[in-house]
Amino acid sequence: MEGTVAVVKYENPESIDEVIKLSGVFDKFKKGDRVFIKPNIVSWIIGASMPPWGVITTSLLVEKVVRHIKDLGAGEIIIGEGTLTGPNDTETASDAYETLGYNEMSKRYGVKVINCMEESFTKVDLGEGIELNFCSDLINSDYVINLPVLKTHAQAMVSLSYKNIKGCLDMNSRKLCHSDNMETDLDSHIARLVNSLPKSCAILDGIYTLERGPAPSGRARRSDILIASEDMLLADMVGAAVLGFDPAEVPHIMKACGMKGILPSLDQIEIAGVPVKDVASPHTWDFMYNKEKTLPIGLENAGIKGVIYPKYDHSLCSYCSGITGFVQVAIADAWKGVPFDDVEILTGKMESPTPGMKHTLLLGKCQVKLNKDNPDIENKILVPGCPPDIDKMADALRKAGIDANQAIFDNYQTSGSLFMARYEGRSEFSHEFYRTNK
Ligand code: SF4
Repeated sequence: MEGTVAVVKYENPESIDEVIKLSGVFDKFKKGDRVFIKPNIVSWIIGASMPPWGVITTSLLVEKVVRHIKDLGAGEIIIGEGTLTGPNDTETASDAYETLGYNEMSKRYGVKVINCMEESFTKVDLGEGIELNFCSDLINSDYVINLPVLKTHAQAMVSLSYKNIKGCLDMNSRKLCHSDNMETDLDSHIARLVNSLPKSCAILDGIYTLERGPAPSGRARRSDILIASEDMLLADMVGAAVLGFDPAEVPHIMKACGMKGILPSLDQIEIAGVPVKDVASPHTWDFMYNKEKTLPIGLENAGIKGVIYPKYDHSLCSYCSGITGFVQVAIADAWKGVPFDDVEILTGKMESPTPGMKHTLLLGKCQVKLNKDNPDIENKILVPGCPPDIDKMADALRKAGIDANQAIFDNYQTSGSLFMARYEGRSEFSHEFYRTNK
């Protein structure tokens, strides 16, 4: 056996104590250890008007962990995250920490709460020519407690403890993870992210799980599952299985297993607690496209013609992918039943134009660099910037004959609130999990 992973059904806050005890995650913890706790707050809207379920680690789990390690005699305790925001936006993270009760935890337990994006970074060589800048507090800690949400991811299939560490990278390193080199692609980067960490463990928060994650646009479920292990890879293998995947089909898990010389199979993991089959249920991760992968299925089913909007690839960074969904909404909104004038919209670092199209939009710095001189483009429309300038998006679509509504892009920052309606009147989706204990 390679190690133990505990799986516990969440019934009440004591279930967290149970999964910690069963898994032995703190058995190697030493008095005085400097601890870095990494929750997942992948995105946030000021005012908390977005569904946190399956998107953000519950504050209940974060606080419970803080109390446990305080009792064990921890030295300095840091809670750190690098929420996805614009380059100079510090307000969003501050609002998240206040609303989620982290500032209250700071007062109660003497915990230091940091926005990784405002701290110093340390360059780490992860091998294969991959060098990334990690939050220095993470690298310099004695003990990392990784608290991801049990969720799927539209590019990486699952976003668990390995993927959660990406939130401790600086902005440039995050973009580098979305490489256009197939040898060192996104999965290769994720598979290496934990390689230089100090002693660590993971507790996967599956009180709520998420389909088509990682953001609020995904669909959350109340799943009531907790998974913990002192081995992050084993925890992620079990987490993937609980979300309905064979760990061997998740590319970054496969690669990580290859690097560690273990098989991506649950057969070599001792499960303490509930058998995986009793809690596993399939979760959809991918966004559906038509057969040719030239149009999202929603646009195809609406009968929209005259536009090609190819499926995003791994080279598309999170900063760009958040915007491109709004392009879909704008196309659907502008559709009046008359085919558009042969428009193609390209994103990421690898997509190339289809010959014969009349208008080609190149979204983002990478596309502009890759294809601005491509002879297959008849009328090129550039939206430069990294990420592309959202204010210019509607105008660019209009230049191609798609009468985009500017208001769709103006509401970009607060769009997560649109998804709140899904959970209205459903008492199992409670905000209480995202507050500190009274
Ligand atoms: S333009 Fe988009 S895909 Fe290119 S590096 Fe910037 S965010 Fe990433």
